[in-house]
Amino acid sequence: MRAAVAEAIHEPVRVRDDVTLIEPGPHEVRVRLHASGICRSDLSTIDGVLAQPMPVVLGHEGAGEIVAVGSQVAAAQVGDRVVLAWIAPCGACRHCLRGEAHLCTVHVKAGWARPRFRLGDTPAFGMAGCGTWAQETVVPEAAAIEVGADVPYEIAALLGCGVTTGVGAVVNTAGVRPGESVLIVGCGGVGLSAIQGARLAGAGLIVAVDPVPAKHGLARNFGATAACAPADVGATLKSLGLGRGADHGFDVVGRPETIRAAWDGTRRGGTVVVVGAGGAARDVCFSASELLFDGKRLLGALYGSADVRRDFATLIGLWRAGRLDLAAMVSSTIALDEVDEGLRRLRAGDAVRHLVTFG
Ligand code: NAD
Ligand code: ZN
Repeated sequence: MRAAVAEAIHEPVRVRDDVTLIEPGPHEVRVRLHASGICRSDLSTIDGVLAQPMPVVLGHEGAGEIVAVGSQVAAAQVGDRVVLAWIAPCGACRHCLRGEAHLCTVHVKAGWARPRFRLGDTPAFGMAGCGTWAQETVVPEAAAIEVGADVPYEIAALLGCGVTTGVGAVVNTAGVRPGESVLIVGCGGVGLSAIQGARLAGAGLIVAVDPVPAKHGLARNFGATAACAPADVGATLKSLGLGRGADHGFDVVGRPETIRAAWDGTRRGGTVVVVGAGGAARDVCFSASELLFDGKRLLGALYGSADVRRDFATLIGLWRAGRLDLAAMVSSTIALDEVDEGLRRLRAGDAVRHLVTFG
């Protein structure tokens, strides 16, 4: 079958047609992909910012239909329409039992121990345990979450990463409450989803920051009160009566300077949430004094602190009720062969989400 593969960092992504899959294990399912988003984390894998074992079939934000199930699969059935979760809760580890399903590593590690793709004779991994830029993939049953047959694949795919992460960072990680003020640094697919999350949580003022002017109009469309360039954050906050900072600041870029910008734009006692995925070699500087005396809470929002078993259904409910705009998140739909062009446009900052479709 065909799949988009990164063989080494900084190498161009190649669409190969000699990719095969292992047979699903007893608790695994094989999924035929219908739609898959291009997330910045795919680009960060190619750039070596996010470490992934290679060669890797890219893509981790996908939806499709189950075409085969392993011998011990409990509930999933051939024909089910599913969203793939890149962190699938095992349900039994310490994190799962503590209500921290987003920190479960059981299935992630299994994907490293037993790569599910083959390039000829060479084993290949699936990005973040998924590998959704492929015609088909094999995942644990727990990673294939059923959605109703009324949910178009192009809508369902977005839940696999960006929307769940952005909305979840606001609702689950920060716990934004009605009337509170929010600062969002970075207005890509995840940041715009965080803006939608802030609107859903009933936030008062929502300030969006992005260097790309075209993102400002989009941010306002999704619910931002104001949008500005990085250099203008201080003045914009002040003009809205938030001179001491917003109640919650979100980094949705993942660079030291944007994490700092989220911290600096948050009031004493407020919450600072890191959503962006930065590299392991990048340090962010905080003084010992400010960490204590500013009394801010600094939180990581891996996968929007989501429990996919609960949150995919919640987000679909919001979409069905017309309260979460998923169609507007899609900049374009492209074929697998055009994935390089989608990556180039994401890098240039002009996209929200490009969706790879498989016909
Ligand atoms: P994206 O490339 O679509 O968006 C990033 C945005 O940041 C762009 O609009 C860009 O113009 C803007 N930006 C660049 N420099 C900036 C600056 N100095 N100040 C403000 N904005 C700036 O990316 P995305 O797909 O929305 O992902 C955003 C980040 O979230 C990435 O780091 C991605 O890897 C990460 N991510 C994390 C999780 C998680 O589990 N927490 C999940 C998905 C993605
Ligand atoms: Zn992602």
